[in-house]
Amino acid sequence: MTLIAFIKPIGRAILDTLLPPNCLACDAPVETDGQFCLPCFRKTNFISAPLCYCCGVPLPFGEAAGQGGLCGVCEAVPPAFTQARAALRYDDATKHLILPFKYADRTETARGLAILMAKAGAALLARADVLIPVPLHISRLRQRRYNQAALLAEQLGRLIKKPVQPDALIRNRITVPLGPLGFDARRSEMQDAISVRAKNIGGKTILLIDDILTSGATANACARALLGAGAPRVDVLTAARVPDPRLT
Ligand SMILES: [Zn+2]
Ligand SMILES: [Zn+2]
Repeated sequence: MTLIAFIKPIGRAILDTLLPPNCLACDAPVETDGQFCLPCFRKTNFISAPLCYCCGVPLPFGEAAGQGGLCGVCEAVPPAFTQARAALRYDDATKHLILPFKYADRTETARGLAILMAKAGAALLARADVLIPVPLHISRLRQRRYNQAALLAEQLGRLIKKPVQPDALIRNRITVPLGPLGFDARRSEMQDAISVRAKNIGGKTILLIDDILTSGATANACARALLGAGAPRVDVLTAARVPDPRLT
């Protein structure tokens, strides 16, 4: 880590305490952290009912969910995790928020996103024993210098006062982007890609934290590993989710 990269976040943190909070998506002042200004709020798509009870995908209005309120995909192939929820739809407006956070050192966004996630995932947070972020491969972590999922988990842990285990999972190898792949190819790409490093997972309800839920293949791989290590239940909470990439 260069000296500048080290000092920049500290400088931002000091500025954040001195200056009034900014809108999550632009520089307009707002009353409290984790808020959007009115124009950005109007552009932002929060996820709201009707949702699939299991994976939390927004269902089109008027479309009847299947048995137990499930989307067609969860009915056909139930995921390894129990429930997934997200705060925002991952669309053009949300990209302006998430991509700089993920790739361009805008790490201060984590706190605002965590506030939104705490609302969207209140039930999952309430029953979680520990929060665990989706891991980055060590080479990606060196490039990026931070794991955005770990920053979100850390902020959520502080907000709701639950323990966070940032190093509980490990990514064994670099995986190719899953977006263009079909269901089976995603699953086989993630096969054995994630291991549990922590020894104290047995008997704990885990809340897996990530920035974006796309196909759910990564979350599923993490959930399978955690269930294999003795966790009775794994839920997933993300800042944003792609509306339904599994239909492509
Ligand atoms: Zn704004
Ligand atoms: Zn579903």
